[in-house]
Amino acid sequence: AQDFGGLKALVTGGASGIGRATAELLAARGARVAVLDLNPEAVKDGDKPLLAYRADVTDDASVREAVAAAVADLGGLDVLVNNAGIGAQGTVEDNDDDEWHRVLDVNVVGMVRTARAALPHLRASDHAAIVNTCSIAATAGLPQRALYSATKGAVYSLTLAMAADHIREGIRVNCVNPGTADTPWVGRLLDAADDPAAERAALEARQPTGRLVSADEVAGAIAYLASPLSGATSGTALAVDGGMQGL
Ligand code: NAD
Repeated sequence: AQDFGGLKALVTGGASGIGRATAELLAARGARVAVLDLNPEAVKDGDKPLLAYRADVTDDASVREAVAAAVADLGGLDVLVNNAGIGAQGTVEDNDDDEWHRVLDVNVVGMVRTARAALPHLRASDHAAIVNTCSIAATAGLPQRALYSATKGAVYSLTLAMAADHIREGIRVNCVNPGTADTPWVGRLLDAADDPAAERAALEARQPTGRLVSADEVAGAIAYLASPLSGATSGTALAVDGGMQGL
């Protein structure tokens, strides 16, 4: 199916995990796709025809330059997938002010910078959509995730506010809320445990489905919210959590 035939998409954090799966899915469905990442070389190893640009979402000039280059090469912009993000563990006593500023800067202000650079181009599209990668952490009250949860709570509120601000310009804004997804990020967390296999088994046992969400499953939800198939949907959060929030 060519649901994205002719559409032009930008995916931040698209060199790994959920972003990479999303970029590949959109390309397979007919989109022209540009990836913005700290690590664009990783994309060149793949066999899909993805464009890749170096950008650090904490650096406004770097974001503006990379978005401008990507939009010029794509020939316009219809879809922004705001996905770059990093993790943080602990309670409010475990992370100091510098760590709070660092993670908020990537996970929240990074999405704002990218949206700011992309919006003038999205206004020119007939099928404009922004999809932010949020998390069940936004609303689930997870232990040992105070800082990370606060960043994703902000992404959720930002999604609702942006949806209200931009729907009359024809730009839809939604987010996906993944549960624990099997990406290199989660792999790194498991590898840091004393017994990675036991840790993975315990994590899987906590999932209603007995397994982690796949990056492709999150990509599928992002693709739906990015495509004209969801043309009347804005300001929603789509859970991709294997039923976790339904418990
Ligand atoms: P990942 O680490 O596999 O990929 C993240 C990508 O973002 C990497 O390619 C990295 O280089 C890039 N990135 C990080 N900081 C950046 C910066 N400053 N500028 C540009 N690029 C940067 O992680 P993932 O698991 O695929 O996570 C992607 C998104 O999904 C994140 O926003 C994360 O919060 C969210 N999420 C992940 C899970 C999960 O369980 N994996 C669950 C819920 C939400």
